Order: sequence, then structure tokens, then C-alpha cells
Amino acid sequence: MIALHARGIEALMWPYHPDLLARPVPRYTSFPTAAEFTSTVGAEALSAGLEGVSGDVSLYVHIPFCEEICWYCGCNTGRTNKVQRLANYLESLSREIMLVGKRLAGGVRVRRIAFGGGSPNAISPFDFVRLVDTLTVHLPLHEPVMSIELDPRTLTPDWGAVIRCVGITRASMGVQTLAPALQARIGRVQSEEIIRRGTDLLRQAGISSLNFDLMYGLPGQTNADLADTLARTVAMGADRIALFGYAHVPHLIPRQKQIDAHDLPGQEARFRMAWNGWEQLTRAGYQPVGFDHFALPGDTLAQATLSGRLHRNFQGFTEDEAPCLIGLGASAISQFPEAIVQNEKNAGRYRMLLSQDRLPGAAGVLRSAEDQRLGAIIESLLCRNEAVLGPETMADMLPALAPFGERGLVQTRGDVLVIRPEGLPYARTVAALFDPYRQDSPRRFSSAV
Ligand code: SF4
Repeated sequence: MIALHARGIEALMWPYHPDLLARPVPRYTSFPTAAEFTSTVGAEALSAGLEGVSGDVSLYVHIPFCEEICWYCGCNTGRTNKVQRLANYLESLSREIMLVGKRLAGGVRVRRIAFGGGSPNAISPFDFVRLVDTLTVHLPLHEPVMSIELDPRTLTPDWGAVIRCVGITRASMGVQTLAPALQARIGRVQSEEIIRRGTDLLRQAGISSLNFDLMYGLPGQTNADLADTLARTVAMGADRIALFGYAHVPHLIPRQKQIDAHDLPGQEARFRMAWNGWEQLTRAGYQPVGFDHFALPGDTLAQATLSGRLHRNFQGFTEDEAPCLIGLGASAISQFPEAIVQNEKNAGRYRMLLSQDRLPGAAGVLRSAEDQRLGAIIESLLCRNEAVLGPETMADMLPALAPFGERGLVQTRGDVLVIRPEGLPYARTVAALFDPYRQDSPRRFSSAV
């Protein structure tokens, strides 16, 4: 696992090989990926998955609302402009929680709850407390670690009080960039003062792990813009930083058509930005987690990285070791060892299903033993930069790995494949070699960097 000090960083510089980055690849927050979901796997698989859960389990609760919709956003979310729509959704969500609770066996313990969206703080603090009450009444919560995604523009003191009283200790704020001109270009204007106030409020509310979501590769963004945003983020004391490459795919996300993309950075410029960000944050004392996440050494995500306990699920990198994740809400995804099931995405149909007391699983994929084996290799490559392949798979894969090996990006140790520090930005591309579903899928995924 990479634990670099300034001395090691000096010697490292990511080599740029455009031919190896030409093919868009999934983020591999699951395997098989969502591209393999079909409607033949749905409520039945969800029900079986829930009934098979034992021991510790995690929850993800999706709130698909935001006060304002950012132009770049690919999330399943809509505006909170209709009070009745919001109330109806929360009622359906409560019904889903009850249905799920009835299917869980005795001995199941919910140890983590992540509230995401959308922006959970788009609903009222009162409604949020009611939602937490419903979870408490119907599900076997066992002192869960709770986290929440927040829009700093609508983070009021009431929310600080609720976060403290409910016992949420982890939060993530969408910041993206602190450059006002870039904010205007992506439809997300928020002053640094708002971010600062949000940070103070969350610290006072007891948040001990605070993540900032940031982006590189924005139209018109320069290396200096990125460096400035990173420096200010570090100064504000973010415990975790997710530095995502902006993927401009208006054919898939129509709201991105509002973004003037004439001066989007090209692939090489993006690659340099990713490197610059990695170098700046590593020098500032952050532990790299994968190639685009960073955590202060005391943070649990950094500790999981260093001890080889890092995992990957639909929320990205996590120290969560529970084998099952139950997704609640429209479009939420549940992950079980033998199946992945996504709830109905359309809020109207989601409500209709729940009004008939039906589980809202609508699409998904069954995971064969081979899927599980390959998924473990992919997860290990992304989380630990190495994976045990076994002699047979190693022999099969050597030809495909050759272009990476010849350029010093990967190496082999017996039947272990190792991604070298220079190969970090190619990790998703290397992982994709083990994905038999990825033959020709040029438009559905983003660039690896
Ligand atoms: S606040 Fe977050 S979830 Fe909502 S539209 Fe903006 S980026 Fe998307």
C-alpha cells in the first residue's frame, strides 16, 4: 500500500501514456457494473437478498432532492419545489423501511447508515428526524456510524442541531471548486464564506470526519485554479478530499448541455491536473486513497488504506467491511454477495410500487461465483494496488498486461499482480482487463483520469 513521504514523491511522476487511457472504463463501484443491470433481476432478488442477510449490514438512504440543480450533476435528483411531492416521497420511503425491516432475520445489526442524494438537507430538519425515527423503529440499528451528504448553501443552524442530536459524525460537502468564475460556468455558485460557515457549523455539531468533494477538468479550469482550491481546502481542515475528474457527457446527462464546454481541458491537461492534485495533497500530508481520494492520517479511511482493509461500494472507497449494503429510496442500490439490485429510479413508479406494498427492486444483476472472484480481484487492485490472481489467471492475463508491464506500470510477484506507484492513474484501466463484460463500450463510461 502506498504510504509516500516527500522523499518518495520527488522520485515519482506519473508517466503519460495516452494509448492506455483512450478507452473509457467504469469506476468499478460494483462488479458487475450497473451497465450489466437488466430488468429480469428485481424485487424477487431483492427479497431473497434481504432474507439472506446475517450479522452486520450497512444502509444507504437516498433523498433525491436539491434546492438547486447543478448543471454538471449526474445524480438522480430533482428540485424541492413541490412540497406535496416531497411529502409523498418520504411517506413511500417510510413504507419501504417497514417492508425491509420485516424481511431481516433476527441477529442482523445495522452498523452504518449513509444519507445521500441529492442533498439530504433539502428536506426539513423535522422530516429528517422523523426519517431517523422510522429507521430506529423498524430496523435493528446497533449504534450505527452515520454519515450525511450536504449542500453547504442550505446548511442552516437547525441542521447543525439535528446532526448533533441524531449523532451523525461524518459529513461530505459538495464544494467542487472555489474559483467564482468556474462556479458560474457549472451552475454552482457558493462563496468561500458559505463553505467556511458550513465547516464551522459541522465541527460544532460533532462532525469528526469531514469530506470535501472537488473537481478537476472543468471547462476553463487551470492548474493554478485547482492548486488554489486545494490549498484553501487544506487550510479549512478537510479530513477527506475526493478529487473527481469532471466527465462531460451531455448525451447521457442532458443538464450538462447548459455548460459551455468549448475550453474543456484535453486528456493530457486532465492527466497533469490529476497528478498535480495528487502531488499537492500528498505533500500536504494526506494519505492517497486510490488515485483520486485523500485522507488525513488520523482519519479512518487513511487507516483502512494503510492496513489493507479498504473496500469499494456504491459510495466509493470505504472502510466498511459489511458484506451487504441495503439501499433505500428511489434508484438506491443494494449489494449482496450473490446479487446487486437497484430500486426503481422513477419517483412516481417508486411510489406506486410501495403503495401496493411491493419492494421497489427494478433492475440488477446476479453475481455468479466467477463474477465474485473477478470482483474481488478488481476491488483489490483498486483498493490495495495489488491482487492475488492465482497461477491460471496470471498465465491467461500476461499478454493483456504486457503493455502495462513493459512501461513499468505493473509488475508481477509470483501469482500476485502489483500496480506500481507510477501505474496508479491506470488502475481502472488495468482493472478493466479483468472485466469480461467490457468488450466495446466506448460511450457509457468516463475517461480513467
Ligand atoms: S447539490 Fe449535489 S446532488 Fe444536488 S444537483 Fe448539485 S451536485 Fe447534484
